[in-house]
Amino acid sequence: MMTKRTLVFCLLMVLSLGALACMQPPATPPVDLKPALDTITSNDILAHTKVLSSDEYEGRGPGTKGEELTVKYLTEQFQRLGLKPGNPDGTFVQKVPLVGFTGQATASFTAGAKTMTLSFPNDYVAISRRFVPESKVENSDMVFVGYGVVAPEYGWDDYKGMDVRGKTIVMLVNDPAVPDPTDPAKLDDKMFKGKAMTYYGRWTYKYEIAAEKGAAAAVIIHETGPAGYPYEVVSGSWSRENFDIQTPDKNMGRPAVESWITTDRAKELFTASGQDFDALKKAAITKDFKPVVLNAKANFDIKNTLREINSANVIGKLEGSDPTLKNEYIVYTAHWDHLGRDSNLQGDQIFNGALDNASGTAALLEIAEAFTKLSTPPKRSILFNFVTAEEKGLLGAKYYATNPLYPLNKTVANINIDGVNQWGRTRDITMVGDDNSTLIDVLRSVAATQSRVVNPDPESEKGFYYRSDHFEFAKEGVPALYTDSGVDYIGKDANYSKQKRDEYTEKDYHKPSDEIKPDWDLTGAIEDAQLLTMIGYSVAQDEKYPEWKAGSEFKAKRDEMMGGTAK
Ligand SMILES: [Zn+2]
Repeated sequence: MMTKRTLVFCLLMVLSLGALACMQPPATPPVDLKPALDTITSNDILAHTKVLSSDEYEGRGPGTKGEELTVKYLTEQFQRLGLKPGNPDGTFVQKVPLVGFTGQATASFTAGAKTMTLSFPNDYVAISRRFVPESKVENSDMVFVGYGVVAPEYGWDDYKGMDVRGKTIVMLVNDPAVPDPTDPAKLDDKMFKGKAMTYYGRWTYKYEIAAEKGAAAAVIIHETGPAGYPYEVVSGSWSRENFDIQTPDKNMGRPAVESWITTDRAKELFTASGQDFDALKKAAITKDFKPVVLNAKANFDIKNTLREINSANVIGKLEGSDPTLKNEYIVYTAHWDHLGRDSNLQGDQIFNGALDNASGTAALLEIAEAFTKLSTPPKRSILFNFVTAEEKGLLGAKYYATNPLYPLNKTVANINIDGVNQWGRTRDITMVGDDNSTLIDVLRSVAATQSRVVNPDPESEKGFYYRSDHFEFAKEGVPALYTDSGVDYIGKDANYSKQKRDEYTEKDYHKPSDEIKPDWDLTGAIEDAQLLTMIGYSVAQDEKYPEWKAGSEFKAKRDEMMGGTAK
């Protein structure tokens, strides 16, 4: 018997391979997506990208003239396409109130008989996300909590019931590095996904669990290997202005201090308090690890300079055609913001962000247009959500996912675009993260209709799944899909992808030179945008909701939200 899901795939197969691909005749006349998909063109993607990445838009910094122009442009495009306002209040925007904060920190530890004065930012960095002029931690007991992880699905709890309220917790970065019992040279695939990073390994998680536990200060020990980047990356970004979402409690539920320390100073701290860092690190890779109270106390003082920034997500809606299912949503996201302008720079001061993410914004406008060209809209409603402040820590997406305009248990899936493929057609597409939800199955089926395959993330240890807007949806439980350009370019040799990618990372990534290049070939970007359109369409038609697969760290949250009943 043909389920609705097979039917939708079957329709997609008819579309690209002809009726023979379907063994059974469809029960209803096939929806012909092709005319709609054909409206996605290189010229259009390029035209939108040109406007958004022009110098006039000043690098699209939140709260700047660039934001005003961007919001106006996206709103006009939604109106041109005949989309409805995405906000139930009748507007195309969701206001996102942000805070910018610049800290001045001092810190010292007393350990055993020793007093350690720490120098900022060479030995440590520290910020306070509490929106108050000063945050102090005085004479606070220090406790080493291993990796600081509580992961019920692995039977893992680094706190073991210890009350760390008011204390300063010290933690290792990344996932617990549990060795494979049969080959200790490798990581255990059954624990924290082996070599790949899980969310428990991200520094953002470490501070969130510290807040939940009521710690006064949370200190992560930086190690280059496990972190994936040198200490200078941390010290550079943590000594500038940082951003967060305005909250009614002024973030008083966060630890007063969130900090990183270099390995060398951490070792010194452990030794002075009569402990051996390497031995404790070894103890921390087992389930039996218990927190270790250090013979040490911490002092921090952080003075914050604060400013408010009013920003916005820009959202358009295509209403579903089914009277009931139209109250359920597929949310596409692409961040409209980039790094703005830096008046301290010599020469070019504008971070045009043509690829990151004017191009993804342009592609999503094209996807929105394609949906409006269907003869019948999909059964479920589609939201096109251009989110702000991705570059400041996924803040627009986080704001939406924690202040959703439509209930999350009616939000069927998120599909995110961050940058397009600018180097031509590929035989494949990359799934970022692992095979964590049934959306990956949809991705595979739909890619097959384009005679393409899905390849795994070549850099799973870097945790890219946790580093763009879809993650904020995943974190709140909504199944979320994030793909990246394929690596198998048609007509190019095997090294082409890596070579172009490295070139981009070195020369243009987050630099003023991220501009439209004369050699851009958007034929692959068109196919990717068509693929993501078909996926959204398929999910919008399918009777069943996409689900997290067993072992996903986001599954529990979704199950709880759906009341434990499979839909
Ligand atoms: Zn981006």
